[in-house]
Amino acid sequence: MNTINIQASHPYQVLVGEGIRAQAGTIIKDTLPVAVRAAIISDSNVAPLYLNQTADAIEQAGLSVCSKTIPAGEASKNISVYSEILTFLADNKLTRSDVVVALGGGVVGDLAGFAAATFLRGIPYVQIPTSLLAMVDSSVGGKTAIDLPSGKNLAGAFCQPSVVICDPDVLKTLPEVYFRDGCAEVIKYGMLEDEMLFSRLMSEGIRFDRLSVISRCIEIKAHYVAEDEFDQGLRQKLNLGHTFGHAVEASSDFAVSHGQAVAIGMCMIARASCALGFCRKSCVDGIEECVRSFGLPDRCDKCAEELMPFVNSDKKRRAASLSLIVPRQIGQCDVMQVASDDISNWLREGLENESND
Ligand code: NAD
Repeated sequence: MNTINIQASHPYQVLVGEGIRAQAGTIIKDTLPVAVRAAIISDSNVAPLYLNQTADAIEQAGLSVCSKTIPAGEASKNISVYSEILTFLADNKLTRSDVVVALGGGVVGDLAGFAAATFLRGIPYVQIPTSLLAMVDSSVGGKTAIDLPSGKNLAGAFCQPSVVICDPDVLKTLPEVYFRDGCAEVIKYGMLEDEMLFSRLMSEGIRFDRLSVISRCIEIKAHYVAEDEFDQGLRQKLNLGHTFGHAVEASSDFAVSHGQAVAIGMCMIARASCALGFCRKSCVDGIEECVRSFGLPDRCDKCAEELMPFVNSDKKRRAASLSLIVPRQIGQCDVMQVASDDISNWLREGLENESND
């Protein structure tokens, strides 16, 4: 088992181990000795697979368990399901010394985390991530949220979990399309911080060793969270590929999945970086080859004029400029403030087929 310490305002551990979910009860009891009740929130795909065994493990540690299953999918991350979860917690009389357990992918984690952050002004919660994206990204770092009709993640709170129990064994049931989506985030960590991780992904491909690669990604995320828990600076780097990626995803009316869009977004920003003289062509070739070898796309069929309105609606946009995370080489990226007027130029360069050397 690997243990990664998260140095946030409320420090906690991420435990990564094959089969570790069987120990969920003792881990929760050790972390939260006064907890009496656990409310497990899961979704309609994950619950039939893992809810009973998780509930049993927690009951064996002496806690009483109640559970709520929400419909799987992003559409559940809304105010009405959030309200249902709060009502469920109230009906089951959870107190501030009890615990919410998020058993699922990023949707369940964000939603259950936000419910825990706000119920009784905040009660402890535990993340048991079951998708690759949730393991390497959303379960760590304390960002919780729901979507509003006007956009994704518009209502939320920073609230760190008490512990994260990450069992890569459950990935065996994750549909391949979601696994590949999570791989885009794994590749992102290599691009951002770790050339060795990147080379490893190139050589091992999609069969990469789950335990060590997931642990390394979490270590990198832990570093960003420790340096910038509330997303005021360094943590923005985790948006590598996301600014243009969001535009690709939204302009396709979400036919392009998030992971595919991030893969395209990383390739676009690398191509633009190269064309504008910030990185070598070898960096572009590397990222393109890597995403393709994971079965992810490296290009989109839209033009800059079609993407531009969606870049402008990015919620991370500040007044007259936009923060772009710009690759300098594999394993090193910079945050650059780019004037809004110049963004279309970056987009155009990112869409070009041939990058300059
Ligand atoms: P998801 O939660 O919808 O899971 C993807 C699909 O896989 C769902 O159908 C789910 O039911 C299924 N699934 C999950 N684990 C499974 C398993 N082990 N076996 C079988 N099926 C399984 O989506 P996701 O990609 O995990 O997360 C996306 C969400 O995460 C988005 O809402 C996004 O905004 C959020 N997110 C949050 C953060 C953060 O820091 N909080 C970071 C990145 C993304």
